[in-house]
Amino acid sequence: MKNQLAPLTTFQLGGPCRALIECRTPDELKAALSVLIAHDTPYVLIGGGSNLLVSDQGVDAVVVRYFAEEPLMEVEDEVVEVAGSTILDHLVRAAIERGLSGVTTCSGIPGTVGGAIVGNAGAFGKQIGDVLESAELMNERGDVYRVMADELGFAYRRSRLQETGEVVLSARLRLASSDREAMREERASILDLRREKHPDWRTEPCIGSIFRNVEPTSKAGRRQAAGWFLQEAGAKLLRVGGAFVYRKHANIIIKGEDGTADDVFELARLMGQAVRDRFGFELEREVRFLGPFRQAANAPTDRFF
Ligand SMILES: Cc1cc2nc3c(=O)[nH]c(=O)nc-3n(C[C@H](O)[C@H](O)[C@H](O)COP(=O)(O)OP(=O)(O)OC[C@H]3O[C@@H](n4cnc5c(N)ncnc54)[C@H](O)[C@@H]3O)c2cc1C
Repeated sequence: MKNQLAPLTTFQLGGPCRALIECRTPDELKAALSVLIAHDTPYVLIGGGSNLLVSDQGVDAVVVRYFAEEPLMEVEDEVVEVAGSTILDHLVRAAIERGLSGVTTCSGIPGTVGGAIVGNAGAFGKQIGDVLESAELMNERGDVYRVMADELGFAYRRSRLQETGEVVLSARLRLASSDREAMREERASILDLRREKHPDWRTEPCIGSIFRNVEPTSKAGRRQAAGWFLQEAGAKLLRVGGAFVYRKHANIIIKGEDGTADDVFELARLMGQAVRDRFGFELEREVRFLGPFRQAANAPTDRFF
């Protein structure tokens, strides 16, 4: 069937969209969005699809995929200008090979640079927003402009872009010269650790952590892992149809062979409920839901089309 979204997400889930437009470069993306905006056509932008649960019924909109197989970047001294479509891990590898540090801790995180900036992706206490100098954006009216990083409202797994619908055409990162061999070693040990603790989405389809870690209640406190609360609440025992909780991490859902997006949606709801029943507070979802789901009346998705 045409325009299926499942192959474009790491969950391998999602029905069709009205039409699919693939863009690699900032210019291609600007041109495509300008036409859609001029015709008042609803669209959704996706990158690597590694933080998205797309409905089995699909999305009643045009999907624009901003994704490049090869890194699109220019480096001058310690400043890197990179297209939002570049795969984050390609950026990490290229930076290390040029002896530039600042993104090494992002080794192995799936998705694109654009997707990473929107969700301020990161690991080991560091995130992409820490090294972003500025970004070139396009808004829903078609205006293109550059903003400095401190205008993007970065916080833990957050940026203002999650609410505004502005897209990241490209990003300028300020990195620092560092020892290449030490960074290669750091990257290798991070990838080993990730292999040990995380599923490989190519063989065990998933979208990373479903819920955000829990913010401290006082300034002295530390953020607490959502996975710990889920584990204590017995989430690892939960299963809905073909969707189940990853055996090594209670905050990750795996899609089994016959799993559907509705199964995942319901399982995520039950996981949240388990924590509410056991601890009396609400976990906040980290992943984005697109399209209509079976339980939509009770728990709204991010966008309805
Ligand atoms: C196995 C696994 C491990 C993971 N580990 C981590 C981790 O350690 N740390 C972490 O932070 N995340 C992790 N993730 C989650 C995911 O990799 C990140 O959230 C990633 O940054 C999402 O990027 P993406 O390109 O795939 O975005 P998508 O999933 O395609 O989109 C996510 C959201 O970003 C928007 N978006 C995408 N590109 C753009 C753009 N150019 N401009 C504007 N909006 C855009 C989309 O509209 C959507 O709302 C993991 C995921 C998996 C599957």
